[in-house]
Formats: sequence, C-alpha cells, structure tokens
Amino acid sequence: MKWINPDSPDYDPARKVFNAMIDRRPAVIAQCSNDAEVAEALRYGRDNSLAIAVRAGGHSVAGMSMNDGGLVIDVRPMKSIQVDPESGVVTAGAGLTWGEFDRATQEHALAVTGGRASTTGVAGFTLGGGSGWLERSYGFACDSLVSVNLVTADGDRVTASATENRELFWALHGGGGNFGVATSLTFQAHRLGPVVHAGLMLWPGEAAADITPAFRDLALAAPDGVGLALLYLTAWPEPLIPERMVGRMAVAMAYLYAGDPEEGSEHARPFRELGPAVDLVGDTNYADFQCSLDDPPDHYNYWSADYHDDLPDEALDLFVESARNLPDATSQQLIARWGGAVGGNLGAATPLINRNAAWVSHPYGISPTAEEGERAKAWVKDFRAKIAPYANGGVWLNFIGNEGQDRIRAAFGNGNYARLARVKRDFDPQNIFRGNQNILPAGS
Ligand SMILES: Cc1cc2nc3c(=O)[nH]c(=O)nc-3n(C[C@H](O)[C@H](O)[C@H](O)COP(=O)(O)OP(=O)(O)OC[C@H]3O[C@@H](n4cnc5c(N)ncnc54)[C@H](O)[C@@H]3O)c2cc1C
Repeated sequence: MKWINPDSPDYDPARKVFNAMIDRRPAVIAQCSNDAEVAEALRYGRDNSLAIAVRAGGHSVAGMSMNDGGLVIDVRPMKSIQVDPESGVVTAGAGLTWGEFDRATQEHALAVTGGRASTTGVAGFTLGGGSGWLERSYGFACDSLVSVNLVTADGDRVTASATENRELFWALHGGGGNFGVATSLTFQAHRLGPVVHAGLMLWPGEAAADITPAFRDLALAAPDGVGLALLYLTAWPEPLIPERMVGRMAVAMAYLYAGDPEEGSEHARPFRELGPAVDLVGDTNYADFQCSLDDPPDHYNYWSADYHDDLPDEALDLFVESARNLPDATSQQLIARWGGAVGGNLGAATPLINRNAAWVSHPYGISPTAEEGERAKAWVKDFRAKIAPYANGGVWLNFIGNEGQDRIRAAFGNGNYARLARVKRDFDPQNIFRGNQNILPAGS
C-alpha cells in the first residue's frame, strides 16, 4: 500500500481528477493493490474519523472521488484482467480504464458496453450503470455483470452475484459506490470485433435545422445493433474537414454497428443519404473507435442530462438554438438514442427506472478556462430550463454533477430508492461511503 500525504512529492498528481474545476486536498490518499489494503485503509479512515472517498478513473464530473481533509481510497493499482476466450467471462481489477479493458478483451474479439471516453474508470462507470455505444445491443455495462467483489464499510470481503448477496448485486446495477469498495468486477462479455463499422459524419451548422429531425426519424427506425447519437460541436482544424467549417458549429453523428461491418455499412446508408460534408464512418477496430472521441483533459467541466420519451420538432428547435450558442469551442451538446436492449427485459434486474425513455439529452460544458467554465455552466442550466417541458423527469446519474437528492431519487423512483436505502442500511448503516450520488440508509 502506498500512503500519500500533502508532503509527498506525488501528492498533486495523485489528487488530480479529470475535471479541472475540482481542486480538492485530502489529508491522505491510500493507493491500494488488493482487498486487504482496502480494508486496512478503511480501518484507518474510520479510526481517525476521516471522510472517505473512493477513486478509480477519476471521471466523476462533480469530483465525488476526491475530498478535502479526508481519506481517498485510490483503487488504480488494481489493474489485473483475466479473459476466458471460450466462455467470454472477464474479471477486471477495479483500477482499469475502459481503454485498458477494451484492448485486452478485443484480443479475443470480446466486448462489454464501455465508456464513450476510453479514460473513464470501469468501476465508477459500471456501478453507476454504464451507458455506451453498445447498449442498444447488450444493455448497460451493469447488465453484463456476473459478480462484484467488494470490501464493505466494516472491512468484510463479500461477493455479490445472482446467487450470493442478491439484494446487494441488484443495488450495484446503478446504485454507484454506496455499498462498499469494489476490488474487481466480473462480466459476461459479448462477441464483437475486432473490426466494426463506426465513426463520425459531420454536417455544417447551417444544416442543423434539417439534419436534426431527419436524424431523429432515422434513429427511431434503426435496428438495435446501431448505437448512435447526434452531437453539436465546433469543427476542429484537420485536413479532412473543409476549411469553411473549421471553428464553426457543426452537427455530428456518432455511429457504431455492433455486428458484421458489411451490415453496419448497409444500416449507415440512410444517414449517408443525408449528404454529410465529412464522412468518417467506415470499417475500423472497435478498440480504436472507443478512444477516438476522448474528451480533452485539464478542462473545466459542468454537465447535466435529462430523459425524453419523445422529441417533437419544437423540442429539436431548442437543441438547435442552444447549439448556435455553444459557450466555447470545446463544449458540446448530445442527444443519445436509447431503445433496443436498454429498454428490454434486462431492466427488471436493476434499480434504474425510465429505461424505456427513447432519448437522453446531455449538454456538457468542457471549457479551457475557469471563466469560460462558468459561462458553460450557465449555458447548461439555461438549456435544461428550456427543455424541461419535453423531459420526462428521469435522469442518468453518470451524466450529471452534484444536483441533490431529488435528482438521485428521480434516477430510481421512490420504490427502488427505498429498496436501495435498505441495502445501504444493511451494508453501510453509518453512511461511510457518501462521496457519491448518495443513497441515505433506510431509517436515517
Ligand atoms: C470524459 C467523460 C466521459 C464519460 N462518458 C460516459 C459515458 O459514455 N457513459 C456513462 O455512463 N458515463 C460516462 N461518464 C460518467 C462516468 O461514467 C461516471 O462519472 C463514473 O462514475 C466515472 O467512473 P470513474 O471510475 O472514472 O470515476 P471516479 O471519479 O474515480 O469515481 C466516481 C464514483 O464512482 C464510485 N467508485 C469508483 N470506483 C469505485 C470502486 N472501486 N468501488 C466503489 N465505488 C467506486 C465512487 O462513488 C466515486 O465517487 C463520463 C465521464 C467523463 C468525465
């Protein structure tokens, strides 16, 4: 175990997380290599009455995996991965990122729904549900979980699966880091790749009002194997992008077909017929595509999200209007298509409600300076207020910051929240693990 305190030379790198807005100074960071070290760190934190946060990939946009003056349990040293090529069962150490996971599993043409950014941690992402390009085929990342090994608040080692600690296993399908420190996660992976048909198509911003409803209609008709989203972004300078588009708002479609690349090309045809100015969708390695849309580090991030059962033209007008006012060249607006396996019968085994929503809207400020970050925050809030009449009240917690208890309840609904609260009471009655989208223990 490596203990890092404010006097250690590696204190600053160890406390750095993805979002540059977060500048927290814990009293001590315990970098743990196994469950015994996690239990020891937890004991130390409890004996010294320290607030405890758990950190894996460091991508909580609200910085929930860091704290001020407390203990941070950093699981990043746990990087092991075992892949059984025959059965497709994969056991991943809690310190892996999705980029690392994808490279190892793709050697055997296996995949699990992973992050849209390869730098995201497998642990935090999956425990929060885990939405990615493969979800319309295989459900969320948590839907592929076979078991999770955890160290609980008392320092006990437990396994949660369909046969052991079943309520806990259910709670870990979206209930986040509330119930213990995960040390490894076992998945049933799916046969995919290494080559898939995937990439981006881009249209100039002037076409946004036409492309947006056309995308909606085509996306609703697309087969389940197609994972896709519409993004409004600023076109970046590179040889494949016409100069007239560079530095201006553009409409992009991210596309991935989870299956035979030729079929993927066929299903991409209706979108190609919309005449993109740039068509980067083609046959590519899945693992390469997975890291091709990584967001820039060291930026100031403020994010939010809403679910939508449908998006009438008037709602789409609001997206286009908001996109015309992107606060800076790195902030983006995304409309992701759900449906397929997301809304299928896998949903019954998770606490997440609203899986039948058709769309998720996700405005995210990713700004190069603190000042622009404040402007982006106002832009995100303004968009949410405008789109509210078309939102169904549900929320995907992984896509939001610290927005309070009402939003946490909205992710689960009152019935599932009460059930999660009972699991929380059984495994963490003192709410030791509260550096997260916090579920309060029943009776507290
Ligand atoms: C650039 C970027 C892209 C993203 N893309 C997506 C996306 O496509 N789909 C999606 O669903 N989400 C996405 N997210 C959100 C991301 O999945 C969540 O913020 C997730 O919690 C990050 O996990 P992490 O391990 O990287 O983060 P951390 O900040 O390390 O952890 C976040 C929280 O997870 C919990 N946690 C982490 N590790 C453990 C552990 N070992 N045991 C118990 N609890 C733990 C803790 O509560 C912690 O506060 C993205 C975030 C960013 C910044």
